[in-house]
Amino acid sequence: MPEGDTIHKVALALRPHVAGVPIRALRLPHGDVPMAAGTRGVAVKARGKHLIVTFGAPGAPPRVLRTHLGMNGSWHRYRPGERWRKSPSDTPHVAIHTDDWVLVCFQPAQCVLYQHPGDLERDPAIADLGPDLLGPGLDLDVVLARARVARNAARAVAEVLLDQRVAAGVGNVYKSEVLFLERVDPWAPVGAIPDLVIRAVYARAAALLAANVHDGARVTAPERAPFGHRLPPGLRHWVYRRAGHPCPRCRAPIAGRPQGPQVRMTYWCPSCQAPLVARPSPPTGS
Ligand SMILES: [Zn+2]
Repeated sequence: MPEGDTIHKVALALRPHVAGVPIRALRLPHGDVPMAAGTRGVAVKARGKHLIVTFGAPGAPPRVLRTHLGMNGSWHRYRPGERWRKSPSDTPHVAIHTDDWVLVCFQPAQCVLYQHPGDLERDPAIADLGPDLLGPGLDLDVVLARARVARNAARAVAEVLLDQRVAAGVGNVYKSEVLFLERVDPWAPVGAIPDLVIRAVYARAAALLAANVHDGARVTAPERAPFGHRLPPGLRHWVYRRAGHPCPRCRAPIAGRPQGPQVRMTYWCPSCQAPLVARPSPPTGS
């Protein structure tokens, strides 16, 4: 499942082959799009889990392509004439053709070409997005205020973390990993979690995402654990997909259970991410 770091990586990889480059053809899942003479790529950006590609032609307003990979989509880069990994006739796809490359997105969950950049900004898919956790100048106060809207008070924090209206970028892997690192019970209602902890959770998510905007596998568990004992070699995640294995922090068995209306798997340590009510109160002053 692509998360925010995936899309930022895609944007970095595609940008040199699109920005400023003449576009020879654009194909969307429903067919070819007529391109004005002189069309060039202008920009390639990630907005949360959306990839935004802007095209410009002399004397015409820029057109904007938005794709979302969903659960099964993926971007690929081919030389003209090279055999594709999937059959173009059987697989819904987007293809951006330049002189040197064909940039292909197989099976996008969403694909919209806007005739004007303002149409993109008005689309609820973009207009409702919270701050991009990988964006410049992330303001955690804005994220906190969005987490605190009334509809979230009774929602589990793990579900709110996936809600891109609060902050954009967290997917199912980061959801479990971040809550483990911050020792937060995934089932705790957001209304019961202090501001300080909410901020720490999103700050941790931003840091983990930023640490993974590079080539190579996503790693959320560093080589050296801060927990004082050895970890299994090659461990990439603390708890994600590790149900039944010992918790890297306290050795209790890691749990895994589907959660929320979308039935997404959540992994956590019931011992060191205990329910809030079961935790001892911190000592009060004097
Ligand atoms: Zn534990």
